[in-house]
Amino acid sequence: MSGRFPDQVDVAIVGSGPTGATYARVLSEEAPHLRVALLEVGPTITDPPGSHVKNIADLQACARAQRRSEGPAPDSATIDNPGQVRAGMRRARPGTWLLPDGAAVDGEDGMPVAAMSSNVGGMGAHWTAACPSPGESERIRAVEGFDELLTQAKRLLGVTTDAFETAPFAQEVRRRLAGEFDGGRALDRRVQPMPLAVHRRADGSLAWSGSDVVFGDVSRDNPNLTLVDEALVRRVAVKDAQAVGVEVEDRTDATVHRIRAHAVVVAADSLRTPQLLWASGVRPPALGRYLNDQAQVVFAARLSGAADHPDAVRAAGTPAGVLDEQSGVSWVPYVDTAPFHGQVMQLDASPIPLAETDDPIPGSIVGLGWFCAKDLRAEDRVEFHDLERDAYGMPAIRIRYRLTERDHETIARAKAQIRRAAAALGEPIGDEPFLLPLGSSLHYQGTVRLGADDDGTSVCDPNSRVWGHAGLYVAGNGVIPTAIACNPTLTAVALAIRGARDVARYCKDWL
Ligand code: FAD
Repeated sequence: MSGRFPDQVDVAIVGSGPTGATYARVLSEEAPHLRVALLEVGPTITDPPGSHVKNIADLQACARAQRRSEGPAPDSATIDNPGQVRAGMRRARPGTWLLPDGAAVDGEDGMPVAAMSSNVGGMGAHWTAACPSPGESERIRAVEGFDELLTQAKRLLGVTTDAFETAPFAQEVRRRLAGEFDGGRALDRRVQPMPLAVHRRADGSLAWSGSDVVFGDVSRDNPNLTLVDEALVRRVAVKDAQAVGVEVEDRTDATVHRIRAHAVVVAADSLRTPQLLWASGVRPPALGRYLNDQAQVVFAARLSGAADHPDAVRAAGTPAGVLDEQSGVSWVPYVDTAPFHGQVMQLDASPIPLAETDDPIPGSIVGLGWFCAKDLRAEDRVEFHDLERDAYGMPAIRIRYRLTERDHETIARAKAQIRRAAAALGEPIGDEPFLLPLGSSLHYQGTVRLGADDDGTSVCDPNSRVWGHAGLYVAGNGVIPTAIACNPTLTAVALAIRGARDVARYCKDWL
């Protein structure tokens, strides 16, 4: 051992968000004899490590944990709700920090609010926890056993569909949306409660899943697993096309350490996973390419007739703060003929200012967020620079990104559909749906995508192993090769489960 770092492990995992945690969990369950180091550049902000900041009851402590996640050089104020952002504004969500430079190149659309989190638990300590399954062409055909993987991913994330079952008007919202959209849809593509990685504790309070839930006791009790925070992995060491370890900077004292490993998993988010591969000289042609964000259209409506609805009594008795941003979350699933996914959230306040005298019935104001599938192109990419450095001293990131004509059409159709949803619910609030600045979805995909063949259009195989490199794996939303419009974490965790099983098989050869 040298300081906080082991000299040698079987598996080094870079990044402690939900997908890095998945590798730790599956290896703890299926290969507990393997020595594993989980290396995270950000600080530990919660107890237990990796839990969701919303589980911190003290609001000031929660805000402190969010601020500590906002990277080495946070450069802008944060906002609580995507609905507060009008096109053109540049703000990060609490717990995240914006890519300071290079988010948009002149003449391109760029991704003005491309964001990251740097903390144990990654973005999974700050997320909304919506976990819908991909459908139709969102599904990944190259991956065998995809449905079993999704089922296991729900288990690891602790996904439920009933945490908000008793939210006032939730059933009514779904009844009206179903009437508008369900015709002609397969059963699994109809309007339904949004699956959420949230459960109710025995005392009725809500528990939001983060990496802590993914770790589970089996990882926490695994004596062969070490979590090291404030540990920046600067390079994966590769010898003869095989990962042999990592070079890590201890951010607490700037010392540099080398850890030998048989396998390395890079789960460092969709911008920084390709960055680390690039910094390590692993530069397959598809690295950083096929970047896709889900353009997000938002609108709001007031449920008509709410005052006379039987739920109004229950809503009136709801203590302030019991309803929150996620109360009564409903889902209008993606279908190929309408390539967007709708997240419908009942609020206890309007995201758009109403008249001052207007005090809406809790749950009767409905926020609508439609996420669009991108028209995939190799030209949309994350680029890196050998000479310019970011605030961590890693190769600077620049985003090259454009919406195509097809993307503009999809966005126009999403706006039309969201208007229909608002009309079905009652009275639209505000004149027009609006498109949030690109990057707002926080769902960046494709940059280390998997593929069935090593034909230059993918970075890794269906087991997430980087083509042509033994023992080198990638994880996160960047692995997703399809243009999914639904929230991607469940899918990324499913792919990580398959990858972790392959790591366990691969490491058998070393024992
Ligand atoms: P991350 O959670 O981003 O973790 C990556 C980790 O790697 C980070 O902790 C980072 O610090 C670390 N790292 C990076 N580089 C290095 C390095 N060189 N060395 C060491 N460590 C490194 N998704 C959904 O599916 N549903 C939702 O409802 C949803 N809502 C969201 C709402 C908000 C406000 C936010 C912020 C995100 C939301 N997301 C949602 C996105 C979701 O959180 C991410 O999809 C998920 O966290 C990705 O997991 P990950 O493990 O791949 O990456």
